[in-house]
Amino acid sequence: MFKVLITEHIHEEGLKELYEAPDIEVILRLNMSQEELCDAVKDMDALITRSGTAVDKKLLEAGKKLKVVARVGVGVDNIDLGAASKMGIIVLNSPTGNTLAATELTMGMIFSIARKIPQANNSLLSGEWKREKFLGTQLYGKTLLIVGLGRIGSSVATRAKALGMEIFCYDPYINPKKAENLGVKRLDDLRGALSLADFVTLHVPLTHETRNMINEETLKSTKRGAYLINCARGGIVNEGACAKALKEDRLAGAAFDVHVVEPAKESSLFDPAIIEKVVVTPHIGANTREAQRAVAEIVVKNLIKALSG
Ligand code: NAD
Repeated sequence: MFKVLITEHIHEEGLKELYEAPDIEVILRLNMSQEELCDAVKDMDALITRSGTAVDKKLLEAGKKLKVVARVGVGVDNIDLGAASKMGIIVLNSPTGNTLAATELTMGMIFSIARKIPQANNSLLSGEWKREKFLGTQLYGKTLLIVGLGRIGSSVATRAKALGMEIFCYDPYINPKKAENLGVKRLDDLRGALSLADFVTLHVPLTHETRNMINEETLKSTKRGAYLINCARGGIVNEGACAKALKEDRLAGAAFDVHVVEPAKESSLFDPAIIEKVVVTPHIGANTREAQRAVAEIVVKNLIKALSG
């Protein structure tokens, strides 16, 4: 009998196959401290997490029988991959399951920030009727820089193209043919690319190269009045530098689904001085019924295969 520990809330229907597997015992324990986790993982064969569990070296070492760590979703930045690999622990994720959900939230963020939809909603509900306050920006004919032309970046490109936007990308790792086929112009210099964009949307993973990629220096290259959207990972943008650029009107708006510290209780972006230019959501990029079910199903299928060798 294999023991599988689930540490975060996961879509129930997506777990159906796991609960029905005859040789698997599922243990669900949410909201554990790191100490409790280390204790709970001791005799587990596999661990299923999302982004909220720090699967560090200590935890991996505590899991003496651990064979698999499965991350329901894409980003594996909460898992010490080096340590897992040295210990022979398989790390699984489900990168394709939430592409559409993250894409659609990104498009929503672009519309929201260009037309100040959340601010207009709050204003009307507070008893105001101030149409002149919500002068927006048209998307048609504007330039969009996509940083990271992977699954989500490409899917955003297709949709933005349909809106009549002109699309550039910065992604040194893709085959140039990919950009060409999508009708996207590939630029090799991030700063040069930033200087051309009316809208910048980030779709890179959080790595040592992308951490703080958008910082005080790179923000100096952005077009005056550009909009910045981050539905990738907190930490790719320096929030303090972004807030400063908003205060100085170098950026016209910023929409962030992801935050340096999550749950985000405080952030330079929550400053009341820039509230009219900022849209923030609590990391809901993958939160659609369809995506939650899909990411869980994919991970469960692969986990069962990995456990049964
Ligand atoms: P992907 O692997 O398909 O694409 C990532 C792209 O980034 C690749 O094309 C890669 O070449 C490029 N890249 C990597 N390093 C780069 C660098 N230094 N400079 C420029 N480009 C670089 O991943 P994806 O499925 O498109 O997802 C992208 C990211 O979105 C994920 O890593 C995850 O962090 C984030 N995400 C967030 C949510 C959310 O809830 N907000 C949901 C899903 C994914």
